[in-house]
Amino acid sequence: MPRKKLMAANWKMYKTPDQTRQFFRDFLPLVANHDRDEIVICPPYVDLLSALESAKGSNVAVGAQSVHWEKEGAYTGEISAGMLQDLGCTHAIIGHSERRQYFGESDDTVNLRLKAALEAGLTPIVCVGEVLEEREAGLTEDVLRRQCTRAFHKVSTKKAGKLVVAYEPVWAIGTGKTATPELASEAHSLIRGEAARTFGQEFADNLRILYGGSVKPENAKALMAEQEIDGALVGGASLDPKSFAAIVKY
Ligand code: PEP
Repeated sequence: MPRKKLMAANWKMYKTPDQTRQFFRDFLPLVANHDRDEIVICPPYVDLLSALESAKGSNVAVGAQSVHWEKEGAYTGEISAGMLQDLGCTHAIIGHSERRQYFGESDDTVNLRLKAALEAGLTPIVCVGEVLEEREAGLTEDVLRRQCTRAFHKVSTKKAGKLVVAYEPVWAIGTGKTATPELASEAHSLIRGEAARTFGQEFADNLRILYGGSVKPENAKALMAEQEIDGALVGGASLDPKSFAAIVKY
């Protein structure tokens, strides 16, 4: 069975609750009845409730941009998977490169967050990808293997069920540089191979691997035409309803 593509928006630290409601007012009619792909919007935490209320009864799901691994506790500024699930969120981005770059996210904390998200029944979108220096030094494969192995550490195939991976070459995020469909495909195959090694071939065959990095309405079609690419994680171009709708409908 072909894998249903997941088109995910990462709003990063943009939009207020009012702006979120406005986005949904404009966006929902543009994607009404679109059931070819799964659609999810991941706004900042403070916008989750507005997004969930606005998306109610629609074909658009709402997710968070990170999730803490403990159920509760003295972790100022953090939000647990159970809290997100209780609110109505269904997805959570984990290990985005900006979190790795600015907030000390490591392969080990990605692993902890992944386990907590799966445990709570969320669909985790685990981000992996090399930085420019790593690509230029020929280290892309090593980096992707390490990030996958450590993210998947001690996650059983049974528990991994809803796992989604996003390949996001860091040099392509917010830079306007997009990986060519062929280059992205190669990385996706490698990630799928790692998933097969950990979870078995059948799981890997069903695993959705998204591409992220300057996806725009103009390049979405060529990227999504690749058999290995099972959707997109979109930053900048997801902030505008028309532009994200055009990507969703590539
Ligand atoms: C992202 O934030 O995950 C991303 C891919 O950003 P952009 O689309 O702006 O490159």
